[in-house]
Amino acid sequence: MDLRGALKKNFGYDAFRPLQEEIINDALAGRDVFALMPTGGGKSLCFQLPALLREGMTIVVSPLIALMKDQVDALRASGIAATFLNSSLDRHEAAERFRGLNRGEYRMLYVAPERLMLDTFLEGALNWNIAQFAIDEAHCISEWGHDFRPEYRQLAKLRTHLPDLPIMALTATATERVRADIVKQLKLRDPRCYVASFNRPNLTYRVVPKTSAYEQLLAFVRAHADESGIVYCASRKTAETLTKKLSEDGISAKPYHAGLEGRDRTKHQEAFLRDDVRVITATIAFGMGINKPNVRFVVHHDLPKNIESYYQETGRAGRDGLPSDCVLLFSASDVVKQRRFIEEKNEHEQRIAHEQLRAMIAYAETRECRRATLLKYFGEDFAEASCDGCDNCLNPRETFDGTVHAQKFLSCVQRIRQKSGFSFGLNHIVDVLAGADTEAIRQRGHDEVSTYGVGRDLKRSAWQAIGRELLRIGLVTAAPGKFATLQLTDAGWAALRERKPITLTKPFDVEPRKRGKKRAGEIECDEALFEELRALRRRLADERDVPAYVIFSDVSLREMARACPTTPAEFGKIPGVGQQKLRDFAEPFTAAIADHLAANSARSTTLA
Ligand code: ADP
Ligand code: ZN
Repeated sequence: MDLRGALKKNFGYDAFRPLQEEIINDALAGRDVFALMPTGGGKSLCFQLPALLREGMTIVVSPLIALMKDQVDALRASGIAATFLNSSLDRHEAAERFRGLNRGEYRMLYVAPERLMLDTFLEGALNWNIAQFAIDEAHCISEWGHDFRPEYRQLAKLRTHLPDLPIMALTATATERVRADIVKQLKLRDPRCYVASFNRPNLTYRVVPKTSAYEQLLAFVRAHADESGIVYCASRKTAETLTKKLSEDGISAKPYHAGLEGRDRTKHQEAFLRDDVRVITATIAFGMGINKPNVRFVVHHDLPKNIESYYQETGRAGRDGLPSDCVLLFSASDVVKQRRFIEEKNEHEQRIAHEQLRAMIAYAETRECRRATLLKYFGEDFAEASCDGCDNCLNPRETFDGTVHAQKFLSCVQRIRQKSGFSFGLNHIVDVLAGADTEAIRQRGHDEVSTYGVGRDLKRSAWQAIGRELLRIGLVTAAPGKFATLQLTDAGWAALRERKPITLTKPFDVEPRKRGKKRAGEIECDEALFEELRALRRRLADERDVPAYVIFSDVSLREMARACPTTPAEFGKIPGVGQQKLRDFAEPFTAAIADHLAANSARSTTLA
């Protein structure tokens, strides 16, 4: 079978992503398949293409009710007969679709698990010519997974009810244990298991010392003008505050967290999907149900509690394969906060949680490749010397002989403790070093210690960086507690006593990446034309009441703004333009491109 031809005709793509072709071949052969692919890996296509190429209908089970309509709209825009059934439909609509199913009008049906497993539904389904089941987000079936859903558990009965139908299980999250559980629960028969690399080459990872969180965030969001992003934070309150501040600074933002009413949550999510809102400030409650392909950045305002969550959350950036940024704002006081959360758990949970947090901190503090560190956590080797896509690889940090400064800092920590009998936090120590005239210093007589003012040679921010470095290399520790007070460790004492040389790394700020080098996934194009095409896409999407990406992805628009097709034949070569979209959209897009070219050449002639 000509799979490539079918891929171009129906979806407009020229090549398969890794593993897609193998999975599709197995599905067409009627085998059970288990597919583990990262977000953006292209899982949907693995069941969508076979659904078009074989007799009968494919039933797709998904927990994400809010998403079904968009998925079905996207398929229909490509000319594929798809529909969905879930609780968002009223009785009449549902009955109408049932009749359509009985008449065999659809190639694909998206359905929520609780509906699929109703006896009445399964009986009705006996009349349909079903070819295959695809179970999306399959990890929801496992209690070991991070998103267990009891209604998914019922899918265990699927095999008993319809023993002859092949099942494909797909997920982006699965540890060894969850993987085995999925296979067992769904009773997959001798399934072929596919595990794609979890590397996301188009994502750049960066960790930035959190000094003035909001200003840092604002600068970052402003540097990404016109782009969508998610800001994850640890609490509802922070989510609310950030939205408020961003809005005051002229950036359209909305919060998303469990404290909002369902209606508002849906409204905010919808607005984000449709590019009406640029930034979502979210607690972890957000994200599962979102497959917006053009999320260009994910900022973690607060420290995530483990690497799994961090990988999942950053994974929501750049699904379309275009370059996207992931930034984590990191501070020692966030570590303290996370530890306090952990202390509220029972003993067994505490052990696991501390372990996970340690790995997260190690990621944040490492001077090695972040990508390699993430992948290693999931058991994958990243062998290259530089990934060209993380702060540590892009700007290897310079080191300097910090012995004198470290000595000053350590001895200041020590003197202050001697004077007051207890310890103080980083900011206070920096104040003393800088010789600041604060109420706290005068009151406690810290202007009398011998290290008062010995650090006037450096800026406060430099001293803060040195303090963080000393924490990182373990010469001081921060006490758990609200104020994160600093104390010397044994190694710190030794360093102070023995006057050992101490090497520190130079701090740096959130610099936008240096221009010049091309980023993974980057498509260079006429940016002005891209903006025009974006506006056109938006108009077409609004007319049809669908999200913009249902019309075309950013990738397709960038390819248009690069190749500038002005005839239908040229337009058909653009990735993402299949048969149906060629028919529907060649006219408006080629016209817009021709206009743009004419206007530009007119301009250059006038100038000449
Ligand atoms: P996942 O479900 O694995 O997160 P999706 O199925 O949503 O990923 O696919 C992510 C994006 O990649 C979508 O925009 C999809 O259209 C696109 N895509 C999938 N397969 C291909 C391919 N072979 N070539 C180009 N783009 C693809
Ligand atoms: Zn790297």
